[in-house]
Amino acid sequence: MLAVLLDLVLPRVCAGCAVPGPGLCLSCRALLRGPALGLVRPQPCPPGLPPLSALLPYDGPVQRLLLAHKEKGRLQLTAPLGEGLANAVLVHGQEAVVLCPVPSSPKAVRQRGHDHAMRLARAAAGALRSHGVEAQAARLLAPTRSVADQAGLSTRQRAANLHAALRGTGAVRGRVVVVDDVVTTGATLVEATRALTAAGHVVAGAAVVAATSRRPASPRRAPPLLPAQEGG
Ligand SMILES: [Zn+2]
Repeated sequence: MLAVLLDLVLPRVCAGCAVPGPGLCLSCRALLRGPALGLVRPQPCPPGLPPLSALLPYDGPVQRLLLAHKEKGRLQLTAPLGEGLANAVLVHGQEAVVLCPVPSSPKAVRQRGHDHAMRLARAAAGALRSHGVEAQAARLLAPTRSVADQAGLSTRQRAANLHAALRGTGAVRGRVVVVDDVVTTGATLVEATRALTAAGHVVAGAAVVAATSRRPASPRRAPPLLPAQEGG
């Protein structure tokens, strides 16, 4: 227990690659500074998914960093991960932007002790402002009901599970980019976009730190998650 607490206060290894030293080593830090992967598309791409950008594929150090931030409360990672998210947001342009996090369930927020997506949205907005981009984070989405854990559900089951699970809230404030730490099938981002649009918000796109690439059935097939083609 003491070791766990000490590790939270004074991490002795990098949360991304476990090299001894500070909580985030220079090479993992550099990964978060970009360049961003760009526009990505889950395969299959769910109908209603807005243009989606990602900083990195969800594996290796960035996967461990995001899990350490979300599940282990490594809050010293919020700022560098937020900077990474800002780099993904910039794929959608440099106009003024409102970053709306995908809300976690109240139960998940209680269990984790923090709202990781809101933290990342605030940190990303700060990083964008420091680069001269007018940005703010705002809770424009609220859960309407509890949903089942998405893990293990098929694409179709996820869509059914999430149907009308969110509602848009808050005053309409301009160009919105929906943000989250990770995208898997895109079903949550579709529901977020639907709810925001229904409430009158203008969704310019979605941005995540990392995009899951589901393992192809055959190694000869192209990876299922690819940067979107120019104009496609
Ligand atoms: Zn590292």
